[in-house]
Amino acid sequence: MTAFWYNPNIHPFTEHQNRFEAMKKLSQEMKFPLIVVDGYDMPAYFRAVAGNEEDRCRYCFRLRLSKAAQVAKENSIANFTTTLLISPHQKHELINEVGDRIAAESGVAFLYADLRKRYSDSRHITKPMDLYRQQYCGCLYSEWERYQQ
Ligand code: SF4
Repeated sequence: MTAFWYNPNIHPFTEHQNRFEAMKKLSQEMKFPLIVVDGYDMPAYFRAVAGNEEDRCRYCFRLRLSKAAQVAKENSIANFTTTLLISPHQKHELINEVGDRIAAESGVAFLYADLRKRYSDSRHITKPMDLYRQQYCGCLYSEWERYQQ
């Protein structure tokens, strides 16, 4: 298993860095390789969703999963998937739809599994590592939705 980091959808930059540091710590402690796309391509996210804010997750998934498939192909990795699938807050049907479409375009298989029932397990495993935990999905829109009340 190889992990992959490309998250131009996480705002602001300090939040991106907090999550990135947590990911690096996790990969070191659990000893799995981590491929990282250099830089912080935040403009790519806003270009992808501009004019489609109501349906922004579709464009966000597409941006990130396309890059995952591309990098998998470049590294001769036969499949790709996403950690989004463990979240009870995410739109699984949409992720699956976008993943399947990218698989058809790229020739790299998308692996879908409903991991939501393992969400609490993941929390128990990572709690002793004292990892930073996100409080909202990632983009500024989701931060606004999370805290506006
Ligand atoms: S809510 Fe989450 S999945 Fe949807 S656009 Fe924002 S960061 Fe992406």
